[in-house]
Amino acid sequence: MNIGFIGLGNMGYGMALNLLEQCQQSGNSLIVFDIKQDVVDKLVAKGATAGESVANMCSRCDVLFTSLPSSKEVNLLAFGAEGILANLPAGATWFETSTNELAEWEKIKSAASGRLTLVDAPVSGGAEGALAGTLATFLGIDENVLAKFESLLTSFAARIFRMGPSGAGYVAKLAQLHLNYLVAQGIGETLMIGAKANLDLTTLHSVLMSSCARGYVVESYIPKVLDGSYDNSFALGLAEKDMRLITELSHHLGVSMPLGEKVYDTYQEATKAYGADAPHLSVVRLIEESHDQLLRS
Ligand code: NAD
Repeated sequence: MNIGFIGLGNMGYGMALNLLEQCQQSGNSLIVFDIKQDVVDKLVAKGATAGESVANMCSRCDVLFTSLPSSKEVNLLAFGAEGILANLPAGATWFETSTNELAEWEKIKSAASGRLTLVDAPVSGGAEGALAGTLATFLGIDENVLAKFESLLTSFAARIFRMGPSGAGYVAKLAQLHLNYLVAQGIGETLMIGAKANLDLTTLHSVLMSSCARGYVVESYIPKVLDGSYDNSFALGLAEKDMRLITELSHHLGVSMPLGEKVYDTYQEATKAYGADAPHLSVVRLIEESHDQLLRS
């Protein structure tokens, strides 16, 4: 079986590396493609095959994975004579693992008109989790399709959630992200209370880790504020995109989200101030600058 992977960035590179290992053990092949040649070369050096173009690689794939920044890139690659839909063979399966827009995915599904199996398969767990093979994935998938591909998915995901039919995976991802961003912004305010009262912030982090506030954001994000790196493994522009998708989904579902609206405003303000390529925890820099106080160990 030929497996394709397009988009070898912070998330895709680690996922593709784990898939490659699985392919090498099971006699399958992995074909990879990205507009950045260096990441393709790194995987080819480990045994993957370089896809010459989207059309060329898709025509050889039974299964395709994509990990792209947003619906803009997913659509760009999906449509057209040189695109994914026109070139994947009939009966192929496409796992779309980006944090994507439900309405845009519906357009792709309708264009595929039953010729392909399309699965929304967004992931959670960060670039570290992608490399370690410990991601969680939330799937809009039929049970029989999941049974067929579970061993591929477990190569990069330690937890697999079948959320329901197509589209349910994206909704689960956005619901999860909503809480994630509320907490990510909250850590700045919590640390600022400590800093203004002259508490040692490393000790305050240990307190939070021993409290009911403990969780992934507290554990992994706070050290990346305290060391001043603001976490390079995820871009601020992608976080802002996520908050936009969450806000649109809440409007579509009629869910009022006052906290979410406020947090979305802040991500927009941070992106304007520091640029879309800045690390996502730059959102905490806004709090630092408005208090004229850096949050450091
Ligand atoms: P990234 O920007 O690091 O990676 C995207 C990759 O896609 C890049 O290597 C880029 O060169 C490639 N790409 C862009 N346009 C392309 C094109 N036209 N053809 C081929 N390749 C193209 O992004 P990321 O952080 O890896 O995130 C990928 C997706 O996963 C996003 O939707 C993001 O929201 C989501 N996500 C990210 C994280 C994280 O912590 N980084 C966690 C969960 C989900």
